[in-house]
Amino acid sequence: MAGIGGATSGHTWRDHDLVENHARLNAALLRQTGALCEGAVTQWQWANGVKAYVRAAHGKIFLTGDCVQSIRFGAIPLTLMHGGERMRFFCPVCGRGCYYLSEKESKFACRQCCGYDWQCRHRKR
Ligand SMILES: [Zn+2]
Repeated sequence: MAGIGGATSGHTWRDHDLVENHARLNAALLRQTGALCEGAVTQWQWANGVKAYVRAAHGKIFLTGDCVQSIRFGAIPLTLMHGGERMRFFCPVCGRGCYYLSEKESKFACRQCCGYDWQCRHRKR
């Protein structure tokens, strides 16, 4: 139950203000809306005006529009939690699996590759 759109984990929303000006791909949300179904084409628009079509095929999404990119995705099993699985993307830059990709200069990548890494806000010792 917890997880999708919830504030339960706290690992995202704490720094939400940091990335809200950037478009973001949310693997769980895309999956929820059917955007990751083979052959599905969905249109997305983000608060900053970025628009993109997302087409899913062969385990990838193909973005067209303001962003042109292909991004691999896959499900990871969550057997320890509730036997389900959770969708994630593989960052096109570093290949890391992540639940969200942020847009920077019309390319989506993980937070670290975008330089939006909110870990660094806690760098104080
Ligand atoms: Zn990356």
